[in-house]
Amino acid sequence: ARYQAGKGWYDARLTTYGPLPMDPSTAALHYAQSIFEGLKAYAQPDGSVATFRPEANAARFARGAKRLAMPPVPEDSFIAAVDALVDADRDWVPTGPDQTLYLRPYMLASEPFLGVRPASEYLFLVIASPAGAYFPRGVHPVSVYLSEDYIRAAPGGTGDVKCAGNYAASLLAQEQAIAAGCDQVVWLDAFEKRYVEEMGGMNLFFVLGSGDDAELVTPELTGTLLPGITRDSLIEVARATGHRVTERKFSVDEWRQGVADGSVTETFACGTAAVITPVGEVKARTGDFVVGDGTPGPLTMTLRESLLDIQHGRVADTRGWLHRIA
Ligand code: PMP
Repeated sequence: ARYQAGKGWYDARLTTYGPLPMDPSTAALHYAQSIFEGLKAYAQPDGSVATFRPEANAARFARGAKRLAMPPVPEDSFIAAVDALVDADRDWVPTGPDQTLYLRPYMLASEPFLGVRPASEYLFLVIASPAGAYFPRGVHPVSVYLSEDYIRAAPGGTGDVKCAGNYAASLLAQEQAIAAGCDQVVWLDAFEKRYVEEMGGMNLFFVLGSGDDAELVTPELTGTLLPGITRDSLIEVARATGHRVTERKFSVDEWRQGVADGSVTETFACGTAAVITPVGEVKARTGDFVVGDGTPGPLTMTLRESLLDIQHGRVADTRGWLHRIA
């Protein structure tokens, strides 16, 4: 759909995938006034298709729109647009285990002008792509690189919304991580570079202790990390199974020492793409360390299966998290 100041949203339509004609001075290309979301559609055992908590994506999108001085996309319009695309692409929703249709709603400033001010014209789009299983050859721990040269977000910035610029600014650190032989970047706080914030596209959890008494710690939402929908869902699922979950600051020292003395038993990252990824090797200038024994931890795998079971409709949806479409 298109938006024009004074007119509102108009021209909502479903079209085939193809190039987007754009004026060379389109505002989004110069000033990054652009936000996006990521969610998935899951084939259900009864033959229907459902998305997972799309209203949470709509709410995060609305917060992003406000922060970037963009017009709101009402929740019902956001969900209706996603639903219409999934319905049209019904035959592209994979039915294999852990396979999904990935959905990418986004909004960009489409007004052609040079100058720094909020645009008066916008485009809201949704595109889709089938996504295979994230770990086709079995779940295995990823290695992470602590970013000590660059920071992802500072208080008052845009770290807690999903805007394009956050990702552009993260690419150099991602290159450093790859050069160091790691899979992913872990971001630290802006001031002391002492507290763990999140991974490149996932939130982090630390498991303290083991067995039924295992506790989870996840960095608190200070405004500089993205409030992940997977993070929020896992907090609820873990608490429902009797685990204590604490949202608080968690320092690299506490992580390293906990691994050394055996009190931190597992670490995992979570997000829409991978659901849960175990974290193994950690590389840092202040000293490398390894969480676990190279295999995914038990609570990591239990929580992973629990959430996948809900998303793929293999257990009853007692929380109303599935949104049926077609
Ligand atoms: N942090 C960042 C920076 C991300 O890009 C994502 C992916 N949206 C996440 C965390 C995880 O969020 P979600 O669980 O909603 O996918």
